[in-house]
Amino acid sequence: MRKIGLVAAVTLALLGTAAANAKTTVVYAGRVITDADKPAQGPSTIVITDDRITSITAGRSAAPADAEIVDLGDKTLLPGLIDLHVHLTGDPGGDFRSAAVEPDEWGVVVGVKNAGITLRAGFTTVREAGSAQYTAYSLRRGTAAGFVTGPRIIAAGPALSIIGGHGDVTGFREDVHDVLDQGYTCTGALECAEKVRKASRAGADIIKITATGGVLSQQGRGLEGHFTSPELQSIADTAHSLGLKVMAHAHGARGIEAAAAAGIDTIDHGTFADDAALKVMKAKGTYLVPTLMAFEGIRERLGKGIYTPTVEEKVRMTLGSVGKAVTRAKALGVPVAFGTDAGVFEHGRNGGEFALLVKAGLTPREALASATTVAAKALSMDGEIGRLAPGMSADMIAVSGDPLADVAALEKVDWVMVRGRIAD
Ligand SMILES: [Zn+2]
Repeated sequence: MRKIGLVAAVTLALLGTAAANAKTTVVYAGRVITDADKPAQGPSTIVITDDRITSITAGRSAAPADAEIVDLGDKTLLPGLIDLHVHLTGDPGGDFRSAAVEPDEWGVVVGVKNAGITLRAGFTTVREAGSAQYTAYSLRRGTAAGFVTGPRIIAAGPALSIIGGHGDVTGFREDVHDVLDQGYTCTGALECAEKVRKASRAGADIIKITATGGVLSQQGRGLEGHFTSPELQSIADTAHSLGLKVMAHAHGARGIEAAAAAGIDTIDHGTFADDAALKVMKAKGTYLVPTLMAFEGIRERLGKGIYTPTVEEKVRMTLGSVGKAVTRAKALGVPVAFGTDAGVFEHGRNGGEFALLVKAGLTPREALASATTVAAKALSMDGEIGRLAPGMSADMIAVSGDPLADVAALEKVDWVMVRGRIAD
């Protein structure tokens, strides 16, 4: 009895402390877009308690005495943006040989810098699409705890790849490859299932695979499918059995089609996706994450001695096709979700993707939805992020102008809140 009494007393004390420390923030904004699919509303008052939105009301309501007040004037308030493909632990243009020189820990330091830059650019949730060992998991913990200024991170950890494929270490002597091996290559359905379970045990929120060849690695085996269909099936089934989704880096059409047929959840890049591949994606409910900004970054660096001849050749194969898959995806009803591949270009320029999506045929409203409601759905987090509503995480940004009229407004974000915390 005495023990139960003590537990009750401690519980009451904790509840009392929590209630006394509940933080209320009141935000006033001139225009509010609560949902990319709905019309904007006029001047509004948004109340946030700790990390949650508790109310959104029209007009300017009085704030409680102890509330922190944020007056955004005539700015437009909207849901925090979501980027489904970033590499926070890396910066662009690095020599591939740095893999043999820089320790994994340096990736965390670079990641702390980039997490802050990304959040200030308006991105309150990112999917970390491949990084060394535990680096993204440490960053994820740091931003969740508030130790590190940065977005919510959905982390993949190291990507699964075929031996010598895009996600493997390439370009060195075989004995150096052995030393730098991340431990996530696999051959055959059995070993691929094993590596999915290993990634899950290590802390992955999502499984990342390199389903086809890739542009910026030293592998010279083209951009088509690398895994076999039984391997892809094994990866998808094993991940799904653990409650994890799978994101596939994929360029070649037949590699995209095979990945979608196996039940992979998102196709990232999707450069050469033809109608046959897109029809399988449509049938399977697969999202396309176009990463058009990656090719802007690559275009800016081409012919400057930054890339090796192997890479330059692959770059020249892709540049003429960038954006075409987005246009066809829209025509065929394949959902387009926002992702940039930041890290291939400078972190913080993520918002540049919106104009490229519009250029490829999306309306400004569809482009904004891709980075809010659609991306949240792709993560199965649409009850938490992607809209402004009572009960949702307090992830919101403010911009000047109307992003539903001109998406360029999203390239300069004036104010950011993530999980109820105002970005400094
Ligand atoms: Zn990537």
